[in-house]
Amino acid sequence: MIGGPEFTSQQGNTQKSRLSVMVPRPFPFPLDYCFFSSLPPGTFVMVPLGRKEIMGCVWDSDWREALPVDFRPELPERVFELSRLKDIHHVVEHIPLLPKSLRRFIDWLAAYTLSPPGMVLAIALRVPLAGGFRPITGWIANPGKPLSESRLTLARRAVMEAASPVEALSTAALSKKSGSSASVIKALGAQGLLKEVPLMAEWEGGKPDSYCHPPVLSDEQEQSASVLRERVNEQKYSVTLLEGVTGSGKTEVYFEALAASLEQGKQILVLLPEIALTTQWMERFTARFGVEPAVWHSDLGIKKRREVWQGVASGDVSVVVGARSALFLPFTRLGLIIVDEEHESTFKQEEGVLYNGRDMAIVRARLVEAPVILVSATPSLETIANVEQGRYFHEKLHVRHGGAQFPEISLIDMKKEGPERGLFLSSFLCESVEKTLVRKEQAMLFLNRRGYAPLTLCRACGYRLQCPHCTAWLVEHRARGRMACHYCEYTQPIPIHCPECQAEHSLVPIGPGVERIEEEAKIRFPGARILSMVSDTLTTPAATQEAVRQIAEGEVDLVIGTQIVAKGWHFPNLTLVGIVDADLGLGGGDLRAGERTMQLLHQVSGRAGRGEKPGHVMLQSYVGDHPVMQALLHNDIDRYMQQEAALRKPGFWPPYGRLAALIISSAHEKLADNTAHALAMEAPQGESVQVLGPAPAPLALFRGQHRRRLLLRTRRSLAVQPLIRHWLERVKLSHDVRITIDIDPVSFM
Ligand code: ADP
Ligand code: ZN
Repeated sequence: MIGGPEFTSQQGNTQKSRLSVMVPRPFPFPLDYCFFSSLPPGTFVMVPLGRKEIMGCVWDSDWREALPVDFRPELPERVFELSRLKDIHHVVEHIPLLPKSLRRFIDWLAAYTLSPPGMVLAIALRVPLAGGFRPITGWIANPGKPLSESRLTLARRAVMEAASPVEALSTAALSKKSGSSASVIKALGAQGLLKEVPLMAEWEGGKPDSYCHPPVLSDEQEQSASVLRERVNEQKYSVTLLEGVTGSGKTEVYFEALAASLEQGKQILVLLPEIALTTQWMERFTARFGVEPAVWHSDLGIKKRREVWQGVASGDVSVVVGARSALFLPFTRLGLIIVDEEHESTFKQEEGVLYNGRDMAIVRARLVEAPVILVSATPSLETIANVEQGRYFHEKLHVRHGGAQFPEISLIDMKKEGPERGLFLSSFLCESVEKTLVRKEQAMLFLNRRGYAPLTLCRACGYRLQCPHCTAWLVEHRARGRMACHYCEYTQPIPIHCPECQAEHSLVPIGPGVERIEEEAKIRFPGARILSMVSDTLTTPAATQEAVRQIAEGEVDLVIGTQIVAKGWHFPNLTLVGIVDADLGLGGGDLRAGERTMQLLHQVSGRAGRGEKPGHVMLQSYVGDHPVMQALLHNDIDRYMQQEAALRKPGFWPPYGRLAALIISSAHEKLADNTAHALAMEAPQGESVQVLGPAPAPLALFRGQHRRRLLLRTRRSLAVQPLIRHWLERVKLSHDVRITIDIDPVSFM
């Protein structure tokens, strides 16, 4: 295919092989190169590209045929002769082959999301490409240099006795084995008695032990655990939903499946939605299996990443707990994938390659014939539909562990019982907090909104402070003294004058953010020790860990926070949860607004009463008869989900149909409009296809880009990928416009 027009320098290419090489660049397919010998797919190589040399990976020649027919991208017609191809410069030693199952996963994900496969490969190569993949120094006894023992000090002799002529040891390992220092080893290297060889860094995390601390499971837990163990032992692809109320011991149960997979010598991947907020999970894992798991997420330093990447490739790492990008680790014997909190929308990657981590976990597992366990207290409608249609198995835990009851839930009608203007905590809620504190128990106030106030308005002229780059209000962050856009990085000082009418001190905060609730709580509960849990302050895992410790050890009376507090925390003395604005997530035209609000509020509610004392949840709402509030109030989530299903079925909304969004963005508003209209004119047509739009996106201006949206909706039987590929071919696009394709969109901004 592409390889450049120049002839290669070598004369006569008769001996050479043509090789496909995937490079981490946005080409729609691998490029062709030649090499003097054949190389197995998965080999890392350095190749020329333009005037640069970059690293790529030898790809399977039949990569396209391995994809489902609908997903196969068009290939260029022109195929360069072998003699015109450029040479692979050299093979990158020391990086193990990229496993076949990962190569197929990359192709699959790229084809499904209509992304260039090279950009998907780039995610997988983040570690090697970051220059992170440097071999460490290993030592072997140089067989060419016989020992003349007389000249060796004791320390040197110890090293030579510890060194092997075949198996390389790292400096650290050799030092440990011989009891001699690194400088002694280096000196022997200089002397030529030891030979330096490149070595993969070794995983020093230790092996999890299935038998370390097995729990005593309840009958119900044991039943589910044994089913899951069996699924693991089958060693074939299957998906099981593990559903159970918060506190029912889902984690304990899936740990049993994990233990079974360890027993088989397999590698296990656990995906968690927000890996930085999982200190309690890590502690539980360590208590159960004796060592920490390998952790993988984007905030990890390069050194740690390299260790994990190499450990996974070498097979030394057997358990990885990670964010969605852990799906791209080079597992060689993946035996089980667990997706905890499978309903979480944060599994969707919303930048770059847009993919859903939960769905792709299932693809990844299918490609290696491994079972998947999806875990949730409030499974997504997608997963429920898959269970109903017989595609997924279902295990359910009905009771909380140790006899804890699910908290009692009550509704506060803010229309009748709301506080006076400018305050946000009703007297009912305040009294309950006070009583809880008197009983020496802990309370939590939840409001999923960062900052002090979501909107700042001029009392004199009505002007609202807005982000200059986005369709968004600026949110006051009083503690930081700044107004911030929650969509881009823009911030500015809090103004004294109205930018519009210049009136002084006329700007007033409207509505509550979590900082404002904290301010109110300080006045209402003067003696209480208050801790705020917000991403603005808990910026590191260590900070989160410290906050969690303070709560768990009773150094805090009242916790106030955003969705961070909803995570799977276990605080046995926390008995009251107050939801400051239960209606918050219901606004906007989002398909899943109700479902998601229900899931989030249920999860927060689940923080109350996890120990022996009963819990209580109070929902402050203006729309008490909304189905979401009623579902929470009567703890009847199944019925709510059935109602949701009934709403989505007739119009073929997901999961009963497919959606794909086209987001057109440009710095020029007119161009965005024209392109959107041109696309609409050429939109695919048919009985089971519908195109909605174009319409300005809710975030019509984002980082200075004007955005328009088109939404494609089809029946499930129809693949959207070929439709979109052909659709885009029919429209000529200007360079100043970008089209983002979002298959199975989760966000409708
Ligand atoms: P879920 O994930 O369903 O919310 P967890 O697995 O977090 O539930 O369990 C809730 C609490 O109960 C945890 O502290 C957990 O350690 C404890 N627990 C659950 N099952 C058992 C068990 N069989 N033995 C001991 N503790 C258990
Ligand atoms: Zn902005």
